[in-house]
Amino acid sequence: MFDPIVQHRCEAVHSFVHIPDNNPDAPWRAVIAVHSTRRGPALGGCRFVPYQSGDDALQDALRLAQGMSRKAALAGLDLGGGKAVIMMPEGVFDRQALFRWFGHCVERLSGEYITAMDAGTQVEDMDEIFRHTRHVASHSQIGDPSPHTARGVWQAIRYVLHEVLGLAPTKSRVAVQGLGHVGMLLTQHLLDNGVQVVVSDVNSDRCQQAQSMGASVVAPEQILQQKVDLLAPCALGGVIHAGNLDELNCQAIVGAANNQLEDADCGRELHQRGIVIAPDYLVNAGGLVFASGRYQGWSDERIAAQIDSITEHLGDLLRQSQQRDIAVNVLADQLADEAIAAGHYQPATHDMGKEALWSL
Ligand code: NAD
Repeated sequence: MFDPIVQHRCEAVHSFVHIPDNNPDAPWRAVIAVHSTRRGPALGGCRFVPYQSGDDALQDALRLAQGMSRKAALAGLDLGGGKAVIMMPEGVFDRQALFRWFGHCVERLSGEYITAMDAGTQVEDMDEIFRHTRHVASHSQIGDPSPHTARGVWQAIRYVLHEVLGLAPTKSRVAVQGLGHVGMLLTQHLLDNGVQVVVSDVNSDRCQQAQSMGASVVAPEQILQQKVDLLAPCALGGVIHAGNLDELNCQAIVGAANNQLEDADCGRELHQRGIVIAPDYLVNAGGLVFASGRYQGWSDERIAAQIDSITEHLGDLLRQSQQRDIAVNVLADQLADEAIAAGHYQPATHDMGKEALWSL
């Protein structure tokens, strides 16, 4: 049981079970993986999807928790990383009661873990959790993080276009894959700044909306091959893989989607080919900065300044990647792991959000 936990260098894993009186054959099961609290309390979303087994749920929680530690560390936040997964029970269940129970689970950790929205959870679920614990960073009083993610990604794109490729926005062409919460707002930022934008989404209504804003639309299977200066993946993970590297027709890749590269080798190959990539978990950290900042009671100015600093971190990283001839994704993981190891957080101060939260 300890092997995967050791493998992911995870500090702690908490398992919770509840047997509902009205359906004892469908127990509620949740795992909270606390990857690291060396820089601060472990923040990360709560995933609520079906899993084949408890082992699968644990693996997912461990992998995602490590990613959250790296994301917070690279963005310069005094936060650790964690992740919760709730295995979706079979059959009928009382959703509100389930998230009430989960709220109590989070509360039992006394702030060591701060939860947030993730795949399968909604803001109403977070509001239910928030009735039972204050350690929640994405309830409705905090608001939607997507505009902040989109802003951070836009700033990173502007930086790469201007500082790395030497292009003014008005002379640039960008392809956006995915027009969801982040992709649509990013498209708006790009168009507002005179960038030529080509987009795709599997949802035709969203394509039409982007077209009415001034973007051109191509079929989803054509977006990666577009001849553009920069590609912005904002839909799914694993979109760049060994099988489609030859089809890419861009000089840089900067987008919101998590885990855009199928694996680290893909990043090494892009580095060899001279295609600039921005680590996804750095450039999409605007939403995390916003949510954790609101949780801690930061002012809007402080949140905005911290999001602005993402671009400085990106600049440092791209320079080091060039100087040391190391693929930027590999370097990002290294630097994030060093920053996590160097953390000096004192767990006794887990209560940092208390005063601020009630004034939100
Ligand atoms: P979303 O679910 O709102 O949007 C995703 C969009 O991608 C949808 O419009 C969907 O129709 C489209 N899509 C799906 N498959 C596609 C395909 N094959 N081709 C083109 N489009 C396709 O998600 P979001 O909140 O906008 O997030 C986008 C990505 O950014 C995700 O990977 C998410 O994990 C990541 N991210 C989001 C945030 C945030 O603040 N929302 C923060 C960090 C990372």
